[in-house]
Amino acid sequence: MWEVDTRRLAGKVALACNILAHEGQGDVTLGHVSARLPAPGRMLMKAAGWGLEEVSPSDVVELGYDGHVHSGSGRGHSEYPIHAEIYRAHPEVGCVVHTHPAAAVALAARGETIRAVSHEGVLFHGVPVFEETTALIRDAATGAVLARTLGGHRAVLMRNHGVVVVGETVEDATVRAILLEKAAAVQLLAGREAELRWSPAEEIELKIRQIYHAGNMEGFFAYYTRRLRAALLLPPG
Ligand SMILES: [Zn+2]
Repeated sequence: MWEVDTRRLAGKVALACNILAHEGQGDVTLGHVSARLPAPGRMLMKAAGWGLEEVSPSDVVELGYDGHVHSGSGRGHSEYPIHAEIYRAHPEVGCVVHTHPAAAVALAARGETIRAVSHEGVLFHGVPVFEETTALIRDAATGAVLARTLGGHRAVLMRNHGVVVVGETVEDATVRAILLEKAAAVQLLAGREAELRWSPAEEIELKIRQIYHAGNMEGFFAYYTRRLRAALLLPPG
């Protein structure tokens, strides 16, 4: 039996999946969200076989970093090493989102990173592009290269594949994933990197403090939750 805290976290992982789908990041049954558990080497992760919009708390499973399902019903995603190796390498990360959003994939295919073209861009200015492989990441060694490429950044673009976005909390990583895609979409509209002008370094830091502080990030997650409920015609919960 899961403890109350684990159950609550599973509910949040499921909600994060639903929000990401509603904000346009669904891709058939691909893409996943995980959260670190307090027990060493354990994480909660969306089960394989479901679209992000279909996930309920019972479709979240407890996995070891070796991919073994310890509790919950369902299979783990084959790309679990993305999540496991990031948790292993980055103790400050509490949540990992992996999706295949169109604008970010298009931008990385041009060999470009995100620039602080829009407000959102300040969070991801200069994020690394992972180029070790464009295929699925199904082994620990490749996952470890991805985790190293991520370094201390909030996200990594995976060329010809998708994105990985991390945060201390589920709220953080989910909101960041939505903001990253908006930043990429605006940048594609603006043109090639060589033609762009972006916020100077000191304003990048200033705008992160002004707009993307912890209070706002929680508020944005609450907003996306209300937006989802409104679209589902559910009463506020
Ligand atoms: Zn993928």
